[in-house]
Amino acid sequence: MPRTPSPESRRRARLVALNARLRACRKCHRAGFLDERESVPIARDPEPDAPVPRILLVGQAPGLRATLHDRPFAGIAGDKLRAWFEQAGIPRADFYRRIHFAAITRCYPGRLPGARGDRVPSPGEQALCRPWLDELIALLEPEIVLLVGLLAIRSFLGVAGPLSRIVGTATIRDSVRYLPLPHPSGVSRWLNEPANVAAVDRAMTILRGWIAELGQPPAGNGPPSRSQSPRARS
Ligand code: SF4
Repeated sequence: MPRTPSPESRRRARLVALNARLRACRKCHRAGFLDERESVPIARDPEPDAPVPRILLVGQAPGLRATLHDRPFAGIAGDKLRAWFEQAGIPRADFYRRIHFAAITRCYPGRLPGARGDRVPSPGEQALCRPWLDELIALLEPEIVLLVGLLAIRSFLGVAGPLSRIVGTATIRDSVRYLPLPHPSGVSRWLNEPANVAAVDRAMTILRGWIAELGQPPAGNGPPSRSQSPRARS
């Protein structure tokens, strides 16, 4: 008699199937927002030998390098993110094993004309892509959601303040822990300020504590002390 698949293997199969549908999506191309020769959806399947992650990272949109390498945070920004998460107890080798990567829109939006950074996806693109994110969240039921950049932070938390007031704080809603983070891109000067670096350090202390609480003990020095506990908002 065939064995009944475990809940974990059913979740993995559903995620792989969702990713396959997502990679075939061309809604924004048909609507005239994107050109298929420059941009297609990026959706990475879970690592075969790791559980489906319960930590979800939501960024703005994939960059050019992610598109070229077919994986998110493939470049220098990813190196910085790996270093931050290492502080929180996630070894670099586990970057793609412990975290599932998504974004407000899943296709590279192209450069902002006349600027160094990428174009922010339009409200139309965001609206077209949101059902993918909602379906992903319903499937993953993440315990921790890392919000990278103002677009993701505003989309989930609705806060409009500057990053310096948001990073280093935490929000817990319906048992889901939300952690706002800046984009780790070298294009941003925000990270040059020592006070902002300290805010990222606080955020990583919060994440380290959450990982310990959720039964995934961090490597190194253990959970934060009470004085380092998150400033949670709900
Ligand atoms: S951005 Fe999202 S909705 Fe638009 S084509 Fe890419 S995957 Fe589809």
